[in-house]
Amino acid sequence: MHRAWILWLLALPIWGQPRIDWEKQKAEILDRYRSLIRIDTRAGNETKAVDYIRRVLEGDGIPTKTFAQDPARANLVARIKGNGSKRPLLILAHTDVVGVQIEKWPVDPFSAEIKGGYVWGRGSVDDKPVLTANLMVMLLLNRNRVALDRDVIFLAESGEEADTTGVGINFMVKEHYSEIDAEYSLTEGGGASIEGGKVVRMDIGTAEKVPARVRLVATGTSGHGSVPRMDNALIHLGAAVEKVGRWETPMRLNDTTRTYFEKLATMSTPERAARYNALLNPRSAAAAQRYLQEHEPQAYSMLRTSVVPTMIKAGVGANVIPSEAEATLDIRALPDEDTTKFYAEMGKVIDDPAVKIVPLPATRPPSPATRLDTEMYRVLERVSKAMYPGVTVIPSMSTGASDKAQLRAKGQQSYGIGPAGAADDRLNYGAHSDVERLAETSIYPFVEFVWNAVTEIAGKH
Ligand SMILES: [Zn+2]
Repeated sequence: MHRAWILWLLALPIWGQPRIDWEKQKAEILDRYRSLIRIDTRAGNETKAVDYIRRVLEGDGIPTKTFAQDPARANLVARIKGNGSKRPLLILAHTDVVGVQIEKWPVDPFSAEIKGGYVWGRGSVDDKPVLTANLMVMLLLNRNRVALDRDVIFLAESGEEADTTGVGINFMVKEHYSEIDAEYSLTEGGGASIEGGKVVRMDIGTAEKVPARVRLVATGTSGHGSVPRMDNALIHLGAAVEKVGRWETPMRLNDTTRTYFEKLATMSTPERAARYNALLNPRSAAAAQRYLQEHEPQAYSMLRTSVVPTMIKAGVGANVIPSEAEATLDIRALPDEDTTKFYAEMGKVIDDPAVKIVPLPATRPPSPATRLDTEMYRVLERVSKAMYPGVTVIPSMSTGASDKAQLRAKGQQSYGIGPAGAADDRLNYGAHSDVERLAETSIYPFVEFVWNAVTEIAGKH
């Protein structure tokens, strides 16, 4: 009795929240993570993961609700109540994974095999680490009876990768928003970088570009391939594609990208730092952009609304002049871009009445960047620095798009996080790569990171 009393005292937290013995959690974390990878959740199978998550949460006494537009593609919500003194925190992850080309894999992509220190499998990076961490955080909050100022809402959503019918976040936002309404949300879209075995950089996703794709449609007179005509639709389309492909759209920084390049400069070699700093100065920005365009295209894209020709379609035979030819432009707009104005500008660049710009249906709503001056951002910064002394925390803008767009459009301050990886792993074994894998040693501290962030922002203070 006496001894138990002392042990209980020792287990008491420093700031009113329980301390977790992370060594003891490893077995369960790995088991949950591998179990989720083993569930093949390629589009159309998400309910299988929801069934697993429901069993796990309800087995621990946490009630769940499922919402399905398509019964095979359900979403699951669970909520741990706080005292209501602050607005909720939403932690979400998608359950679906992209397809696999089985012949590219050295292991079964749904085996979650551990080899060479890595857990291999489709979804091992995108997005089952976040799903695992969120699930573990719910279990641990409940098991440790953590007192909360905010409700913590868990969402496992379907159809992030391919939601053409709107079964996932679109369905939840449109039909059941009150279930996931929150001040802050945490999900995929960030991550830590390992160099020389050490985490040196933590990216927090705070903004993303908005897909604003168009078709260019050129029209002309059809006819016999033996008779040249200058109103040939292909000639007009070709010229238009070249003009927009080479068009340098205006450079514009926002809070996230300005801070991104400033912070990146602080951790770069003097030569690279000078280039990033040059971007912040209108007089020297042009030369720095030239360099980035060639050597760091990702960074170049962060500076502007980008226009990339990706598809071209015309013709039915070698001897037939088609009356129509079209190209698809993958346009990725800056968060604050006025697309109507932008298309008008592009029309001036093309300067050809035979070529029309036809916007494609929007796949994501326009969404403002997430703020950097919030309690949540400060918590993420603090937790990163506490776990990884000397780390540089960088807000980043994705050139791609994510489900944070729908949440930001509803006014949530939504942040992207993720586990740590080395450059080679991110490049060759990352999200959507032929083969996906994550170092086993990355999953444990990631769960701890999410736990620390959640208990700091939502725990009772
Ligand atoms: Zn993802």
